[in-house]
Amino acid sequence: MKTFKDGLVFLNGKFVKKDFAIDNNGKITFKISKGVKAEDLKGKKVIPSLFDLHTHTRCPGQEYKEDFDHITKAASHGGFSEICAMPNTKPVADNEAIIDYIVLEAEKFPRCKIYPFGSMTVNLEGKKLSRMGLMKQSGAIGVTDDGMCIQNTSTMVKAMQYASTHDLFIMDHAEDINLSSQGQVNEGETSYKMGYGGIPEIAETTVILRDIELSRYLEIPIHITHVSTKRSAELILKAKADGVQVTFDITPHHLSFTEKDCLGFNTDFKVNPPLRNEKDRKFLVDLVKRGKVDAIATDHAPHAEFEKEFAFNNAPFGISSLDTAFVLLYNTLTIKAKIPLEKWIEFISSKPRNLLKLPQKELKEGVMANFFIFDSEKKWKINADDIFSKGKNNPLIGKILNGKIINTYFRGKKVY
Ligand SMILES: [Zn+2]
Repeated sequence: MKTFKDGLVFLNGKFVKKDFAIDNNGKITFKISKGVKAEDLKGKKVIPSLFDLHTHTRCPGQEYKEDFDHITKAASHGGFSEICAMPNTKPVADNEAIIDYIVLEAEKFPRCKIYPFGSMTVNLEGKKLSRMGLMKQSGAIGVTDDGMCIQNTSTMVKAMQYASTHDLFIMDHAEDINLSSQGQVNEGETSYKMGYGGIPEIAETTVILRDIELSRYLEIPIHITHVSTKRSAELILKAKADGVQVTFDITPHHLSFTEKDCLGFNTDFKVNPPLRNEKDRKFLVDLVKRGKVDAIATDHAPHAEFEKEFAFNNAPFGISSLDTAFVLLYNTLTIKAKIPLEKWIEFISSKPRNLLKLPQKELKEGVMANFFIFDSEKKWKINADDIFSKGKNNPLIGKILNGKIINTYFRGKKVY
């Protein structure tokens, strides 16, 4: 039995001062005997663990970027108990053998649970459909061709229908690659100043419109990941109001940074979709404030140091963000935009679990202890050693942030 006292425990949408304990079976209990030795959590917040819809685990096949050991450490360090693994591994997770491998390997690192996504098409080529039914039986929770959006609409129709017959969650990275190819940053002033091709907003919105129409026509739900502009979000909100079963998520970096951050040629700000302008960023933050988003997802995309050391136009896209996503959100949403933590925490915990029809992680009597302890008063400078992911491509290194995760518990055990 491990007892905690005076913490601010997140219960039914509010922080309440409460003592609690983890019993010998790893379960939460509020029945505490008086006078027992307890860890003092005065002023610290106790929050049910987070959920990430969009993590690039890179394994199997690209262990030089990330491996199961590091990804599970980064997840627990970031307060996550569950992460969804994207299928752009090597080989691609387009068949049941790879899904089996991910499920079995992940269990060797019991710091968080990994839910694998399968690809929609073989080798992410956008042509032949992958073995979705068999992948589902092996434990795939959803499908996506993330990073390699299916360009052929007829193939997308078949992929959605096939996924739907197996009740697989469908997630799309909306990008028309003929419009975005050669682009390095958001199209506009920044791409002009940097001398690079731009990635226009229409590369995203045209595919979102296609997906909305397919979802409406087929009556199959679709989730659009990492929505990056005001216009994209407006199109989805309008479709939702019309009854289309479309949902979306936003990343912590699109809520926190803009294209201007790329002007210093720091490749750690190079992401796809690109960081957009301040008008877009503000609109997305406002959507969170109004409770209009379905989820916040990290799009954790670790790379090896040498890859991000290439010139901006040759460096790969992606931010390693699992370690710091929650703390960055706390700084952006709560400290800067004054949105209380209790108003946005659901977007990175209960809401994505609902989208995937998964059970919730709550701090309730008799449930398995899955939570993290957050010191919102602590200021700290982030060093490369504070990034537990193998990918150090995190633009927050060297920056001072408010709020630090102190410990994380998974299935009753301290994992960070
Ligand atoms: Zn993507």
